[in-house]
Amino acid sequence: IFISFEGPDGAGKTTALKKIMPLLQAKTDKEIVLSREPGGSQISEKIRKIILDIHDEEMDARTEALLYAAARRQHLIDVILPTLSEGKIMLSDRFVDSSIAYQGGGRQIGTKEVADINNFAIEGHLPDLTIYFDVTPDVGLARIKKDHAGQMDRLEKAAMSFHERVYDSYKEIVKDNTERIKTVDAAQAPDKVVQDAVEIIVQRFPN
Ligand code: C5P
Ligand code: MG
Repeated sequence: IFISFEGPDGAGKTTALKKIMPLLQAKTDKEIVLSREPGGSQISEKIRKIILDIHDEEMDARTEALLYAAARRQHLIDVILPTLSEGKIMLSDRFVDSSIAYQGGGRQIGTKEVADINNFAIEGHLPDLTIYFDVTPDVGLARIKKDHAGQMDRLEKAAMSFHERVYDSYKEIVKDNTERIKTVDAAQAPDKVVQDAVEIIVQRFPN
């Protein structure tokens, strides 16, 4: 079982996942593996650093998209596929929808273009279920500023219009994939968000 978690910056995915993981583990005998993108394997974490640790240079949007796709490919090969073939449950904090929303919509490369390079990278290995953490950019960014203003990465610091485009693309993706993607209202209290996500997962995969 492969489940991805998606949503804009400040949606609370990473925090929620730390709580979702043990709650799910209590309900199943299968081992649960938690990972994140960009990153998740040694090579992919190095690529993450290349993408995010840039300060006084501009990275071209297509370069960025290719690096995300490359990091994803290696994460798939090193972590996701081995985990699935061992019969374990794979939880990934972000996957292909992030690229379509951020690089395709946010950075305006185009969702079709970004989907194409990602199809090359993932060879059809889409998640069985995707939980989308829905929060508007104003609420999401206010949370980030409050929680870790000093350590925002260059993408979190991008213009509000960028974050609006990311949000709008996510909405399109959700609308086009109603079978795979289920939405949680991430503006709710953190514990309710966790509870809703767990409920969706347990309903979909009762054992
Ligand atoms: O989810 P996390 O905060 O670890 O993501 C790191 C940064 O990378 C975020 O600022 C996010 O907006 C950005 N990102 C991106 N394109 C992706 C995935 C993440 O711009 N495909
Ligand atoms: Mg972030």
